[in-house]
Amino acid sequence: MIGPIFYDSRQSVPSVDSFSKSAGKPARFMELMLHHYRPLGVEPFKPVTRDDLCLAHDPAHVDAVFDGRTPNGFGNNDPRVADACLWTVGSLVAATLAAPLHPQAVCSPTSGFHHAGYAFSEGYCTFNGLAVAAAKFIQANPGATVGILDCDFHYGNGTTDILAHNKALAAHVVHHTAGQYFCPEGQAIEFFHWLGEAIDDLNEQGCDVVIYQAGADMHIDDPLGGLLTTAEMRQRDREVMRKVRAPLVWNLAGGYQPTQGDTIFDDPVLQLHCATMGEANASDGIRDKFFKERNA
Ligand SMILES: [Zn+2]
Repeated sequence: MIGPIFYDSRQSVPSVDSFSKSAGKPARFMELMLHHYRPLGVEPFKPVTRDDLCLAHDPAHVDAVFDGRTPNGFGNNDPRVADACLWTVGSLVAATLAAPLHPQAVCSPTSGFHHAGYAFSEGYCTFNGLAVAAAKFIQANPGATVGILDCDFHYGNGTTDILAHNKALAAHVVHHTAGQYFCPEGQAIEFFHWLGEAIDDLNEQGCDVVIYQAGADMHIDDPLGGLLTTAEMRQRDREVMRKVRAPLVWNLAGGYQPTQGDTIFDDPVLQLHCATMGEANASDGIRDKFFKERNA
């Protein structure tokens, strides 16, 4: 059994016209997963509410986006984007809440979170599911610590902004974002040094759950990335899956390489996300050991 994957078709908006494919990516990712893996453990979940979004965001900004008075993260006022966000954020929230119950890394096939700040939406990110998921987890588990390991190529400026506005939340969140430190000329060896230190910190701080943004735009061929080869991308995913000792959730995050043809098999971004699932699956043995140690 592969998964669990917290997916609902209502989290996709296939026809939003944008350079970013992220709004329609979950559906295409699931199509590829179904081709490679059967059975898939797809978990149902509920969308979040506007009140949930306000755990991380300015309520006036949330209302303005839903009412079409201010642009969403795609720079348009399409109300379907805001509605779909209740499902994308809902997927990550449900996956994060469920992660401690599962020995395996849990998948939320979602993108478009980390550039959304307390009172702004930008960079294909309308609302910050990472911050909302952390807040919901802490609400359900008072005193818990949530790790956010953001290995998208870009700086999670929205997450940083929310934590700066919300000290109570920041006191329980450990946030590492690779995009703060690396440029396309960066060296893979430096990235892996950073990654090792970030994972050590998450483990030392005793995180109760870790949310891993496995951004495909960290790839060296990405037009908006990146510095890792395909093999190094797999190494990144493998290290996270095998060294983070806390319950683990992963999501898709960014990826902008153009597709090479018309099918899901021609899309290099989907192939990178598929490889992350492969590394998650291949790490079940060691993650099962962590699970048993936690629950002993
Ligand atoms: Zn990115």
